[in-house]
Amino acid sequence: MSRVLVVAAILALGSWGLLKDPRAGSLVASTAFQPTGEPRIGILLDEGQFRRTVQSSDGRLQIRWAGDSATIAAPVEVIAAAGVIHIGNRRWTDQVWIRSRTGEMQIGDRYHEGWVEWIPEPEATGWQMIERLSLERYLLGVVTREMSASSFPAAALQAQAIAARTYAMFQMEARGRGRSYDLRGDTRSQAYGGTARVPKEVIDAVEQTRGQVLLWQGKLFESFFHSTCGGQTCSAAESYFIRGVPTMPSVRCDGCQSSRFFRWSEEVPRKHLADAVAYLCKGTGIQLGKIDTVVAVDAAESGHVPYLRIDHSLGSFEVDSKRLRATLRSRGRHKLRSTNFVVQPSSSGFLFSGRGWGHGIGMCQVGAQGYARRGANDVWILQHYYPGVEIRSCW
Ligand SMILES: [Zn+2]
Repeated sequence: MSRVLVVAAILALGSWGLLKDPRAGSLVASTAFQPTGEPRIGILLDEGQFRRTVQSSDGRLQIRWAGDSATIAAPVEVIAAAGVIHIGNRRWTDQVWIRSRTGEMQIGDRYHEGWVEWIPEPEATGWQMIERLSLERYLLGVVTREMSASSFPAAALQAQAIAARTYAMFQMEARGRGRSYDLRGDTRSQAYGGTARVPKEVIDAVEQTRGQVLLWQGKLFESFFHSTCGGQTCSAAESYFIRGVPTMPSVRCDGCQSSRFFRWSEEVPRKHLADAVAYLCKGTGIQLGKIDTVVAVDAAESGHVPYLRIDHSLGSFEVDSKRLRATLRSRGRHKLRSTNFVVQPSSSGFLFSGRGWGHGIGMCQVGAQGYARRGANDVWILQHYYPGVEIRSCW
């Protein structure tokens, strides 16, 4: 089956697309950015039906709902079910807010200082758990999770704050319309750990870059970043098969050599690979035989491999390597750290020898750490990974 047909078949299944999520043509905003002051932002912390233990540092939680409020003892179990939410021994069917009375509230591994809102999903299938706060406060919880304050120099933390602010603003301007939130509180958008327990180094980095965003010819863009590029970043245009993303080309990076994922290898037994490939073929009509060889196809300049050709006893077809990577992780517990790899046969299956960790696009975080240790400032770091951008103060 041709690549187009495999992709079309995968798209037809609905839950998988070729891309991480649909990107309408460009990663650059269509109009010039016109700031109107620091915005408030809604972060989706969880959704669907779920159960969480909510704790409070002062042992008390305040609950607010339409026209009334109450104080209850913490910790308390919150169970979000179809059409109803249980908080301790009480229940609600409509919007409800919870916060710590005077201290910090812990939900899962996140710490919050303000209100967290639970709202019913459309059709009452479950609930959305959302925190709404100012953008600068949100960034405290992002930079804390995205970089370690104890090992990343100030310039790297500042570069991270500016890149994360730009990413969030782009999402608000270009992607968030029509939703009850702007970003997700995990790596599908940006990692976020809540606004309590933020190290002083992160508070300083966010304050010192307050209001600063990256602009490409006056426009916001989707300023990707990732853990470790392995020596060269991946061009956004190559990765997403689109034109017109001059802000994130493939650039050399010698700042991330200290990362333990600068080079990596993972042996995948033949059976585990066959299971993952069979899962990807479900519903496509492909009859999978015994896998003979796996060949990287159309490798980008950076080394990232968009497709793998699977030669098997009944024929040959290509699969999307991002999907295969995700499937191996979820089904076989094999961690291909990136799609920047070469693959060879091994005694038990296939040996993937790779570079870097993450999608490889935009700023390399460990690279930023390396350059900052050598004395680079935040502006140098950002202009290295996003050539041609300007940094503008917006509030
Ligand atoms: Zn790097």
